[in-house]
Amino acid sequence: MKRNKKIKLFYANLSDDFKVQADAVGEKMLREYGAFFVAGNGAISPDKVVFENEREVAEWQKLVKSSKATIAGFKIELQTAAMKALRKAIKEAEQNNLTITPRGTDAARRSYAETVELWASRVNPALLHWVEKGRLTESQAEKIRFLSPFEQVPEIFKLEAKGIFFSKDLSKSIIYSVAPPGTSQHLSMLALDVQEDDNTEVREILARHNWFQTVISDLPHFTYLGIAEIELESLGLKKVIDAGRDFWIPDL
Ligand SMILES: [Zn+2]
Repeated sequence: MKRNKKIKLFYANLSDDFKVQADAVGEKMLREYGAFFVAGNGAISPDKVVFENEREVAEWQKLVKSSKATIAGFKIELQTAAMKALRKAIKEAEQNNLTITPRGTDAARRSYAETVELWASRVNPALLHWVEKGRLTESQAEKIRFLSPFEQVPEIFKLEAKGIFFSKDLSKSIIYSVAPPGTSQHLSMLALDVQEDDNTEVREILARHNWFQTVISDLPHFTYLGIAEIELESLGLKKVIDAGRDFWIPDL
């Protein structure tokens, strides 16, 4: 009973126009990446779990308010509310002789094409590997290569259910390595990959400014939720401790 109530809590906090995708991909993406769909206080999240193509992403990105900045030499773009909070966090870090540095020019906003490229950088080598190991036939691999990135996602998940994994080290799901095309929080301009992610104090400062870790195993990745930590549970999120860190994920 308690569990059902919690499931309702997360769903109840999704925006009214949110379109739940009732299939394996939609369910998995909501569970693993979905924390940002309950972001608030000026943070806007998409109304569905997967953008299908470049046009959808570009149109959505045009609609939300964003700000550009050069931080430690890296040009990044975030939603305005997220950028404001980041600047405050950076200031607090400086006062403590710490830095918060983007991991590169693609540390914040990304285009659909960039997420497709990252996806392919995992899928293609893994296909070669599994054919070599005899777990896939060449024609099975070829069929996957011919699909659009959007169509590849459910096929990759089906293989992973059989232990044929596509993460960089081939030991776990690809989703802990790169986001399926169209699902990255970076498309929403609410995510930032940070160089100092292994510094506990830096993580605490970011959390005080409503930037949290929300994707287990994606260690440099932080998400702007716009909500104080103390309120996250009331939105249907739960804290999971993994690799000695706090992650906030949907309680589903
Ligand atoms: Zn990231």
